[in-house]
Amino acid sequence: MIRVGVFGAGGRMGSTVCRAVTEAPDMELVAAVDPGAAGTAPGDVALAAEAHQLEAAGAEVAVDFTVLDAARENLRWCAEHGVHAVVGTTGFGERELAELAELFERSSANAIIAPNFAIGAVLMMRFSEMAAPFFETAEIIELHHDHKADAPSGTAARTAQRMAAASKDWADDPTTTVIAEGARGGTIEGIPIHSVRMRGMVAHQEVLLGTEGQTLSIRHDSYDRSSFMPGVLLAVRKVADTPGLTVGLDALLRF
Ligand code: NAD
Repeated sequence: MIRVGVFGAGGRMGSTVCRAVTEAPDMELVAAVDPGAAGTAPGDVALAAEAHQLEAAGAEVAVDFTVLDAARENLRWCAEHGVHAVVGTTGFGERELAELAELFERSSANAIIAPNFAIGAVLMMRFSEMAAPFFETAEIIELHHDHKADAPSGTAARTAQRMAAASKDWADDPTTTVIAEGARGGTIEGIPIHSVRMRGMVAHQEVLLGTEGQTLSIRHDSYDRSSFMPGVLLAVRKVADTPGLTVGLDALLRF
């Protein structure tokens, strides 16, 4: 049995992870940490306010779905205490990921950070990267629920980075007059990203690519937070045997 602790256990994703871990036949939920929530998590585990509860409970793997500042601290705590980390919290920049890679190289613990644990989203990013060299224009529209704190989404940022790494050959933006500030979205590595926040939605993204006389749309929709759970459980199972820091789920999947 893998002994699992969850940071952010009272949140939307964290509570779903607690249920998924409790239902997994090869895992045991031993600690649930969330300073912003009181009560009990599934499996009758009391919600604790402090990270050291994970150590006291003998957690081997910590899953983090919190907010960026908390995830930063929790990752450092995991590295220092030899607890493997599986992190879904979004917003980490490239430089910070490089620093974390060094931190986990020195630690006895490993870490997997993925901006999206849904298999369909992993494939969407891969297909977008494959398509990038064949098109001159590309824009990303990401759509999320209306409680999401960060924009653009970690998935959109990662998609843009991967597409930019796959192709440098993008047409210039023709816009010379912007009437409404932000109408052309924000850009990451030169690729425009538009963030929609909409009540009723969960997590959605459409990548639009265009060239002479044709466009390609690659779309993924997570309708429910259960879509992320197989990816999270896979990472929990594999993290002990995946040295250092791994970013994204791709390395754990056989394509
Ligand atoms: P949420 O606001 O519902 O939950 C976050 C929880 O973290 C809250 O309950 C809060 O009290 C708790 N928290 C804050 N600081 C903490 C700390 N120091 N220790 C422990 N808990 C702490 O948010 P959410 O919708 O569950 O999303 C959480 C994160 O997961 C966001 O960054 C979101 O973008 C990301 N996300 C990632 C994926 C993915 O597949 N990687 C999917 C969905 C959401």
